[in-house]
Amino acid sequence: MVKTHCFSVQYAKSSMSTCRVCMAKIVKDSLRVGHSQLEAENDLSRKPDRSHLPDMDERMMAIAGAARWHHFECFPRMKGAKWMAANLPDSPTKLEGFKELKKGDQKKLLQLWKALASPEGKPSSKRKAEMEGKVAKKPASKISAITSVQGVLTSAQFKKVQALEADLSSSTNHALLGELRKNDQPRTGKKEELVSRVAEGRVLGALPSCPKCKHGQIHWSRLGGWFSCPGYYDRDLKTTRRCFFRSKEMKRKEWKK
Ligand SMILES: [Zn+2]
Ligand SMILES: [Zn+2]
Repeated sequence: MVKTHCFSVQYAKSSMSTCRVCMAKIVKDSLRVGHSQLEAENDLSRKPDRSHLPDMDERMMAIAGAARWHHFECFPRMKGAKWMAANLPDSPTKLEGFKELKKGDQKKLLQLWKALASPEGKPSSKRKAEMEGKVAKKPASKISAITSVQGVLTSAQFKKVQALEADLSSSTNHALLGELRKNDQPRTGKKEELVSRVAEGRVLGALPSCPKCKHGQIHWSRLGGWFSCPGYYDRDLKTTRRCFFRSKEMKRKEWKK
């Protein structure tokens, strides 16, 4: 069974969808990117009764129904860089809905694609041939520069966080992980995520542990200001325990440098 990945982009039609990366609500009218998988077995072209519907509408409906949505800013973290390079269409102009976007947002997507095209400076094998001879290195901070948002931060906080992010991007992973460990913060993710986590922590304080399941590490989304718990891995039962804790109010701890 061959799976086809479909991506679409649009302004959120309501505030009902939840971002699959940060788990915060996607507010109506904000730019969101959808991902859905169509299996070849459900190939619409094999359905006998489709003659009354134009192909495109049916396809759009299937995609819209199954889409998992992401804030534009969170979308680069949906999957690892390798997966993204292998599965994204080579141009965002191929996304369903791209042409309906405002010019400024089309530009944002084009910039993001450029940054995604060569994860950590290594072009995907598919693109290697065309890139040969050209310098393909892109600094890791490029994506975060495009997707960095003020969200619920005050302008003063945002300025501080941005300055720290620029500063910290030259730190080693080792140093970043050390600082996060000292503060009991999540240590997963790519370097750019570690950088913003440390920067946010220094400005806002450290995230507390989950008051509900007691084991999960709280995540915070700058976009919606939501604290959420993704659950944790239960070593005794060898399963992942999901936790649905969500709150806008949590007391942060003092950050240790
Ligand atoms: Zn998000
Ligand atoms: Zn929890």
